[in-house]
Amino acid sequence: MLQKNEIYEAEITGMTNEGSGVCKINGMAVFVPMTAIGDKLKIKIVKVLKNYAFGIIYELLAFGTGRVTPDCPVFRQCGGCVFRHVDYQTELQYKQQFVKDAFARIGKLNPVFEPILCSENRNHYRNKAQYPVAMQDNKLICGFYAKHSHRVIAFTDCYLHPEIFQEILNYLLPVLQKANISAYDENSHTGELRHIYLRKGYHSGEIMLCFIVKKSIQKKLNFLSDLQKQFPDIVSISESVNSEKTNVIMGQTVKLLAGKNFITDSMCGNQIRISPQSFYQINTAQAEQLYMIAKNYADLQGNKLLLDLYCGAGTIGLSMADSVKKLIGVEVIPQAIENAKENAKQNQIFNTEFYCGDAGMISKKLLTKKISPDVVILDPPRKGCDNMTIQSVVSMQPNKIIMISCNPATCARDSAIFAENHYITEKVKAVDLFPNTAHVECVVLLTRNNR
Ligand code: SAH
Repeated sequence: MLQKNEIYEAEITGMTNEGSGVCKINGMAVFVPMTAIGDKLKIKIVKVLKNYAFGIIYELLAFGTGRVTPDCPVFRQCGGCVFRHVDYQTELQYKQQFVKDAFARIGKLNPVFEPILCSENRNHYRNKAQYPVAMQDNKLICGFYAKHSHRVIAFTDCYLHPEIFQEILNYLLPVLQKANISAYDENSHTGELRHIYLRKGYHSGEIMLCFIVKKSIQKKLNFLSDLQKQFPDIVSISESVNSEKTNVIMGQTVKLLAGKNFITDSMCGNQIRISPQSFYQINTAQAEQLYMIAKNYADLQGNKLLLDLYCGAGTIGLSMADSVKKLIGVEVIPQAIENAKENAKQNQIFNTEFYCGDAGMISKKLLTKKISPDVVILDPPRKGCDNMTIQSVVSMQPNKIIMISCNPATCARDSAIFAENHYITEKVKAVDLFPNTAHVECVVLLTRNNR
């Protein structure tokens, strides 16, 4: 049995999909963050559970493959990046392995794995950030939550964010404080400003600012036109009231305070409007590559019907609309569906229909109307597809299903369900949309076995 606070010597032999190194000590799996496969080290045990334990690096004895010195001053405190201590090649190998392991272990599938697509930008690739706000030493600050906690650490120079976000925050924080705006305090559920939300169009440069507040601060915001003069790219300013005790950041509604209630960016050549509530891939350049891979897998011909489930603001379907007879998109967030319709119109794409509602419910309805798509795109949230969605899609009998997922585990699980329902998992390509973090996206081609 391992003892808490004891020091043991071991070698890291594997990597979890959360980015922790794994070693075996006295037959027990021990997870050690910020390690690399091949590291030999002394480990201090910090927590022992029944079947596994957690440790931290006590002393690094020999470097594993790809180790580098972390470049970020808050790497240890922040939970955002987990791979700043290894080079990019090594990170990509880990991620490729996460995807392979998910399909082998969870899906019990053996598709062709295409090589992982690396991201052109390893830093400053995010187009969106939500900074928690707090009061420290009588100063309004914002930054990130310390690992496993809700303690705000003042830091605005994140390597993953656009550099202009820091400039905006440096300007904004003192101005907000001067306007007497208080920081929300989670413990006492008092105060006003919870988060500062920023989003920037990767190609357009347009910036959206949204104040997430416990109660409206609109009356105190008499500096917005000065802010826009200082940063003309801020074309949309809004506030979202969230008065709940919750970890969910955005409130139910968004109120426009200045400018327009969306920003426009371009994606795969289409002009795309995005509201604060709409999902929009956070690494635009890489998402464009992802969509191109999906389009390639779909191998569309002009006479086909394409169903894009979980379509968000319509980005994927619209990038393929010129290659199909008709596109149907389905999405649960009303503002995103409004964006999708508007995006189709703006780009003069007229062969589209968009429906707002649950993917399972709507596909079941489409099925009863005898709509039979040739190709279905599935791009669900992390929890994957529910049974109703999968069964409705299976009953529609499309020749191809393209699944795009930010969670290889649920993607492998869902592919296995499709495999029980005549769909062969042909190939899988991992795409690194989120460099330095433990997240990895994958695209899967499923084809109908007509035999
Ligand atoms: N395909 C889009 C969005 C993918 S993210 C893009 O690439 O930008 C997943 C989307 O699924 C989100 O927009 C989310 O709002 C939506 N969603 C979540 N649950 C859903 C459900 N049950 N039915 C339909 N859409 C859902």
